[in-house]
This record gives sequence, C-alpha cells and structure tokens, in this order.
Amino acid sequence: MKILVINAGSSSLKYQVFDMDTGAVIAKGLCDRIGVDGVVTLKRPGKDPYKANVPLGTHDDAIALVLKLLVDPELGVLADISEIGAVGHRFAHGGELKESTILGEKEKAYLASIVGINPLHGPPALKGLDACEKLLPGIPQVGVFDTSFYSRMPASSYVYALPYEYYETYKIRRYGFHGTSHRYVSMKAAEYLQKDLSELKMITCHLGNGSSISAIDGGVCVDTSMGFTPQEGLPMGTRSGTIDPTIVTYLMKQLSLTPDEMDDILNRKSGLLGVSGISPDCREVMIAEKEGNERAHLAMEILYHNIVKIIGAYAAEMDGLDVLVFTAGIGENDAVVRSEICRRLGFLGVEIDDEKNLSTPRGQFCDMSVPGAAVTTLSLPTDEEYMIALDTYRLAQA
Ligand code: ADP
Repeated sequence: MKILVINAGSSSLKYQVFDMDTGAVIAKGLCDRIGVDGVVTLKRPGKDPYKANVPLGTHDDAIALVLKLLVDPELGVLADISEIGAVGHRFAHGGELKESTILGEKEKAYLASIVGINPLHGPPALKGLDACEKLLPGIPQVGVFDTSFYSRMPASSYVYALPYEYYETYKIRRYGFHGTSHRYVSMKAAEYLQKDLSELKMITCHLGNGSSISAIDGGVCVDTSMGFTPQEGLPMGTRSGTIDPTIVTYLMKQLSLTPDEMDDILNRKSGLLGVSGISPDCREVMIAEKEGNERAHLAMEILYHNIVKIIGAYAAEMDGLDVLVFTAGIGENDAVVRSEICRRLGFLGVEIDDEKNLSTPRGQFCDMSVPGAAVTTLSLPTDEEYMIALDTYRLAQA
C-alpha cells in the first residue's frame, strides 16, 4: 500500500509518499508560498529533482498539484492515484485526542474547536485535510498528533499549579509537543537494543530550532519539557523557554507592551538569538563562541545548563536511566553539543567514547557509549513522517 503523508503549514505543504511494502519513500517535496505565488518541488530516489513556479492560491491548489505530479507520465511515481491507500496528516496539536485516529466528522469538529489553543498549526492542517477529502474521496484520512504521545502522563506532570478551574474550564495544562519524533526515536532505540520499550527508562532529547526533552518510562511518556505551548522548557533558537512568569507581567507594565508584543519577545527575540545577539542558529552562535564572543559563549552555556538540569530531573523522576537519545537538527548533527552535555552527566552513568561521537558523520546513527556504560547514549536521526505513515498504514488496514 502507498501512503501519502501531509504536513501543512500556513503557506507551505510538505508531502511524502511511502511504499509500505518496503518502507521506502518513493517521492517527497514541498509546495511553498501558497497564497503568495507558488513553488513546487518533487524529489524521487535516483532521479533529478524537479522544481517549478506554479500559482498556488490555496491548499486545495497545492494538493491538486501534488496529486497531478504523482501520476504525471514523466515525473510521477504512481500509475494511478487509486494506489494511494490512505493519507496521514500531521497535527501539531490534538488537544485531548489520545491517539492517532481516522478523521471523521466528530474528530474534525473537535480539532476545529481547539484552534484557539493552536492558532498557528491548526487552521492550515485542517485546510490540508479538507483538500485531501475533496480530491481523494473515500480514502481514509488519518490524524497523527504530536501531543498524543503525552496523553498517558500522570496528572502531576500535566496539571499546572494554578487555580484548578483554569484546567477544567480552559484546558490550561501541559500538552507537550514533538511527540511523534520522541515516539519514533524511542521505538528505534528499543529496536536497536533488541529490548521491549516496557523494559527501558529512556530520555529523548529533540534539539532543533524548537527543542524538547521527554522522559519515557517503560514505553510511557511520564514527563516532557514543552507545556501548554511549545514555549515552555529549554531555551531555543528564538524562544526563551521557561522563565519566571512574573517577568512577563513586570515587563508588560514597565514597557507598556501589548500581549502580542510580549509574545513576539518571548517567541522570536529570545533564546540563542536573544542572549548572543548573533543568530538563532546554533552553528553560527558556536562559530562566534570559538572566536571568543562572550555572549555567544553564555548563550551556549545557558542551553547546556538547562538541558543537563532537565535530564537530571527526569532521571530522578524515573528513578534511573538506561538510554539517552539525541535527535533533530542539533542533536543529530552537532557532536560538540552532545559531548558538552554528556560530560556533565557522568554522575548518571553516561560515559561516551568522544572520538566515536566526534567522528560520526552528521545525521547518522551512533551508539557512542563506552562498553559497559550504565547508560546507552545514542545519536538517532528522527523521522516523523515515517512514524505518521506507520500509524496511517496500521489504521487503514484495520
Ligand atoms: P526545526 O525545529 O525547525 O525542525 P531543526 O531540527 O532543523 O529545526 O534544527 C535546526 C538547528 O539545527 C539549528 O540550530 C542548526 O544550527 C542546527 N543544525 C542543523 N544542521 C546542523 C549541522 N550540520 N551541524 C550543527 N548543527 C546543525
């Protein structure tokens, strides 16, 4: 069966087609600048990439173009569109939906009802779904939610110590994000160790532009660093991560800031960019650090400090740690960051062969633990789309 995976943003739409008989990606690409002008790309293994400027007014136009390209006699990878057995849609926020599901009217209405707490990702994901329903009628549409991985966290992890009515009435709680990535790498790490997830205490670090850490005890995620929104937890490229909440009200009063201006500071002007004054990109901050820039050095130290603090807290929560996983842009590619973190975690039993770590090519799997280390430390490339395809395939078959 072929599965189409869609990840729709406000003006872009990423797609991948998986052949589930082999697990291979047979086509993938991006529709970009939707509603502006329109660009489409298509990549197929072993063939030249294709790129074209095509007017894309709406998400419907983008999906229609993708389907047309997939069956194009020259460029396509499918003989007929009916080869697509199901479509998997990435939803960053599933609210209280506890697992991936086939999207019927009830689920769609629920997802539409929670766009208020998911204003950036919710509306475009629903548009992508609408377009697929129109253009691929009768084919199962599956929703895979980044938040559902956290649905079994204990209430002590997800209820904030605010008046309880805000949880009950406004659903103010920790939802967690990047769940599809944490779920994928935890599954892969267990496969590599040839153990069942139920036997392992694992901490997975998704470190990219947005970063989060999850504690997975026996296959159940028991805590995660992102919260009501992806703002909580670690400092990120441009996000502050956790700060004293009173700073927000204090600054708003002192500088007469509107809520939107305050949001902008917290989401787009903070993090690595805010402290270093150089860039949100870890690579650029590290170059400046090497050249002796003190604020770049401080920005990286704040990042390491917070990562180590959360890993330590999660090991305490789980009463131990068997596996530590690094993934995403920084986690998969930056051996220096991994090295800096691991050398501060010796007390937990994290011991890595730094030569092996530093010589692993970017983006490749690596077990960097020294033989006999109490904790297995892995660098493991994430693949959220494959996880979405797997869930979609399972639900479509059922
Ligand atoms: P997003 O959260 O937008 O998906 P990514 O997972 O792509 O982000 O991560 C982006 C971060 O990864 C940036 O800080 C960038 O510096 C870092 N990164 C990407 N590639 C490399 C690399 N080859 N070496 C070091 N860091 C990298």
